[in-house]
Amino acid sequence: MSLLGITPSTHSSVSSRLLRLSIFLVLGLPDSEGKAIWMAHLNITFQVGNQIISELGESGVFGNHSPLESVSGAVALPEGWNQNACNPMTNFSRPEQADSWLALIERGGCTFTHKINVAAEKGANGVIIYNYPGTGNKVFPMSHQGTENIVAVMIGNLKGRQLLHLIQKGVYVMVVIEVGRVHMSWLSHYVISLLTFLAATVTYLFLYCAWRPRAPDSSIRRRRQIKADVKKAVSQLQLRVLQEGDRELEPNEDSCVICFDMYKPQDVVRVLTCKHFFHKACIDPWLLAHRTCPMCKCDILKT
Ligand SMILES: [Zn+2]
Ligand SMILES: [Zn+2]
Repeated sequence: MSLLGITPSTHSSVSSRLLRLSIFLVLGLPDSEGKAIWMAHLNITFQVGNQIISELGESGVFGNHSPLESVSGAVALPEGWNQNACNPMTNFSRPEQADSWLALIERGGCTFTHKINVAAEKGANGVIIYNYPGTGNKVFPMSHQGTENIVAVMIGNLKGRQLLHLIQKGVYVMVVIEVGRVHMSWLSHYVISLLTFLAATVTYLFLYCAWRPRAPDSSIRRRRQIKADVKKAVSQLQLRVLQEGDRELEPNEDSCVICFDMYKPQDVVRVLTCKHFFHKACIDPWLLAHRTCPMCKCDILKT
C-alpha cells in the first residue's frame, strides 16, 4: 500500500508541481528594497548653556519613497500653532545661520506626501515627521509617493516632542540623519518561511520518490506470490460432476450459496477441504479473490 493511496507517479507530478510553484514564487518575490524597512540613525546635537549635548540613536525609519541617503541640517518647525504643515502657505522657523535645514512636522491632518511637499517647496533638505501623540516611540515606514529626492524619515512621538520643546525654547538643534540597518518586513519573512517550507516539502518528495519504488516492488511481489499459491491450491481441490441420483440433488439439499441455483445433474462442482462444495464456475473466482470458503471461512492455503 502506498502512503495515502498516492502512487509514485502522482508523487512525482505533485513534486514537480510544487517545484514549479516555488520557482514561480522565487521569481515573483517582491523587490526586497520595496518591502524592507530601513532604519534611520538620528545624530542630534544641541547646546544647553555652555554644554554641547549630542545623542545618537536608531530612532527613526526611512519613508518607503525616500532616497536612502544621509542628510543633515538645523531643525526648523512650522510657524504658528499648528505643527502639521498641511497648509500650503506654511512657513518654517528656519535659523538664519543654517545653510541646510530639516523640517520637523507632526503626523496627521493631511497625507505624508502633502506635508513633505510643503516643506520641500520651502527649501527643506529633509523632513522629519513624528508620530501621533500616545504612540510612544512607535514608528513605521511612511508611504509618500510623489515626493522625489527629499529624504523623509519618521520618528516616535516622544522623540519628536522632545525636539519640538527644545526648539520652542529657542535651542538650536542640529540633526544628522544616517542610513541604519535594514529590517525585513513581515511579508518578506512570510514569503521566506513559505519558500523554506516548500523547499523542504519538495526535497522530501524527491527523496521519497527516489526511495519509494523498492517498497511497492516487494509488496507487489508478495501479493503475486500469494495469488500464484491460491491458484495452485484451487487447482488441487477436488472436482466432481454431479450425477442423477446423487444425494446433493435432492430437493431438500442446499443450493449454491454464491449463485443461489439448485444443483442439477452434470453440474461441475468444486469440493473444498472443509467438504463444502459449490459450482466450479462460482467458487473458482471467489477463491482467487477471497481465499476462504464462503460458508465456514476456512482458508484454502492453511488446510
Ligand atoms: Zn453456483
Ligand atoms: Zn467450508
